[in-house]
Amino acid sequence: MEKKKIDWSNLGFAYMQTDKRYVSNFRDGAWDQGTLTEDAAVVLNECAGVLQYAQTIFEGLKAYTTEDGRIVTFRPDLNGERMEASALRLEMPVFPKERFVDAVTQVVEANAAYVPPYGSGATLYLRPFMFGSNPVIGVKPADEYQFRIFCTPVGPYFKGGVKPLTICVSDFDRAAPHGTGHIKAGLNYAMSLHAIVSAHKEGYDENMYLDPGTRTKVEETGGANFLFVTKDEKVVTPKSDSILPSITRRSLVYVAKEYLGLEVEEREVLLEELKDFAECGLCGTAAVISPVGKIVDHGEEICLSSGMNAMGPVTQKLYDTLTGIQMGRIEAPKGWIHVIA
Ligand SMILES: *Cc1c(COP(=O)(O)O)cnc(C)c1O
Repeated sequence: MEKKKIDWSNLGFAYMQTDKRYVSNFRDGAWDQGTLTEDAAVVLNECAGVLQYAQTIFEGLKAYTTEDGRIVTFRPDLNGERMEASALRLEMPVFPKERFVDAVTQVVEANAAYVPPYGSGATLYLRPFMFGSNPVIGVKPADEYQFRIFCTPVGPYFKGGVKPLTICVSDFDRAAPHGTGHIKAGLNYAMSLHAIVSAHKEGYDENMYLDPGTRTKVEETGGANFLFVTKDEKVVTPKSDSILPSITRRSLVYVAKEYLGLEVEEREVLLEELKDFAECGLCGTAAVISPVGKIVDHGEEICLSSGMNAMGPVTQKLYDTLTGIQMGRIEAPKGWIHVIA
């Protein structure tokens, strides 16, 4: 297989149309067998459920080339499981996780020429999503749905070195108690756009959202979970029912305990204890873990002792170990690496 002629190391995070995508339709109470297609366009009735009442969910994962030249994805079964949970919460039919992993495999195989080479830092980003496709005007779930997966090559996250982020404590809320914060639904992102545009205008990289109930506890950012490190090297990650269960964060917690022998606490994290932490990172598929250097709470600056120049030492170890596992340089726990080719 000959790779596409792409300047892998200069790719950004943008959509590039690739050759094939997977489509399956849900009609009359059942999913069809699904197929790969070259057609990137979706044609919908003007009254489609997704257009009127935002009945749509998604996932994000990446395929990449390991040190020994295999094409793999990282824990796609967990994305499939999470998408099942998202579907149930929005009254959508479940696309079974076994079929999800099969569809991921088909899309990566069909677009193998777009999987960036080992060492480029780039990856093939996969976007599974599902939406209500038939006309819905009264407020109710759609009867017909489409599940799709497309992929697009994306560039290295830390281009030109790691720069710790400056984030601000947001006055907006991300997810209500007992709401939809724990599922990966487009609606959680639509309402975060004003908050992130406002934060960027004020010079911040990201928002830190608090629990809307009491506004005293740390939740997450718009698209990444928090991981903190105490001065005595304990890893602390916020626990809340309205946080999206990041696969990266769950994997880093395992790595911290089982590979690095660190103590890990999953518990409520108070805004007022932030000043006591030594390191802070944002966990998600794209960056694995991005260091935070400074948190600004209404003018009050909380500077992490790891500083604004590099990752803190524990964050760095977590990053090196998880990326080592992903790239095949360090032995992975059983079932973490899904080999495609
Ligand atoms: C997708 C997402 C994450 C990161 O999850 P990963 O599985 O690690 O990619 C974190 N927070 C939110 C709100 C998300 O949507």
